[in-house]
Amino acid sequence: MELHDRYSRQVLFPAIGREGQKRLAESRVAIVGCGATGTAVASLLARAGIGKLLIVDRDYVEPSNLQRQSLFDEADAAESLPKAIAAARKIGAFNSEVEARAEVADLTPENIAALLGDAALILDATDNFETRYLINDFAVKNGKPWIYAAAVAAYAVTMNIIPGETACLSCIFPAPPEGTVETCDTAGILNSAVNLVGSIQATEALKFLVGARNRLRRTLLSFDVWSNDRAEVAADRPRPGCQTCEQHDYVHLSGQRRPQITLCGRNSVQIHERHRPVDFAEMTGRLTPHGTVKHNDFVLKFWRDPYELTIFPDGRAIIKGTNDTAVARSLYARFIGS
Ligand SMILES: [Zn+2]
Repeated sequence: MELHDRYSRQVLFPAIGREGQKRLAESRVAIVGCGATGTAVASLLARAGIGKLLIVDRDYVEPSNLQRQSLFDEADAAESLPKAIAAARKIGAFNSEVEARAEVADLTPENIAALLGDAALILDATDNFETRYLINDFAVKNGKPWIYAAAVAAYAVTMNIIPGETACLSCIFPAPPEGTVETCDTAGILNSAVNLVGSIQATEALKFLVGARNRLRRTLLSFDVWSNDRAEVAADRPRPGCQTCEQHDYVHLSGQRRPQITLCGRNSVQIHERHRPVDFAEMTGRLTPHGTVKHNDFVLKFWRDPYELTIFPDGRAIIKGTNDTAVARSLYARFIGS
């Protein structure tokens, strides 16, 4: 690889050096989720010269994202661009050497192997435990390292999972949190908490990719940037009896735990339909008598007071304006079909 001035300051850091930089250029990393954490870590890793970045995200850019999602701008929000597409375009503008691939998709048991199978490292930048347990099952089963990261309000938490060596997500949290969970939509979020966790995650990724494995942190680390409370829990070995790493019972990967409808944030419901291809032009004609409709190549939006439906080409829909899955099902059935 020809060494470029671009990376000169990073190469000067002895633990990276020329050999490390070369390894980064040959690396393939997948980032699942491209919200606040995802844009932070994608930006850092793309600037650091990771060769191939895959960005998987199911959402579109909204004005309320701009406070913390550092790869997006007002034009992206005005166009409702899918986040993965907008992020890959921004990366192309500041580092065209990086091969950034956008995948506008919901990560599922059916597509996870095809999407993440060739990544050397998986970075969690999702906002939900359902997807994290799915990643954990896949990663443990395939011996692939991944890095958990989450942030809400002023709180950030992260853990490196190296299958066969460290604890996995199920070792630490045997079951997903029950009932309602605080999210960025309910508890708010400071952009500094997100950037902290993205920075830690990106640094751990660099250590792994350049081969500095003895430097990888082997704890669950949490930090509250407002109170300055900090905690670390040992995670250096698997928990005896762990359903995932010891019993190899991959319930999330087998799809047994997958709901077809989920609450996503405050006052919205997602219908995980994936096999109902939608013709946006035809659908626009169908919906126009019932409300306001707008679409581009990636997403169709339909406003019918007090609801807002966002429909994707595969039939997946996010219905805003309700927490009631029955209402959401009904709206979907009425306007999209089921
Ligand atoms: Zn485990």
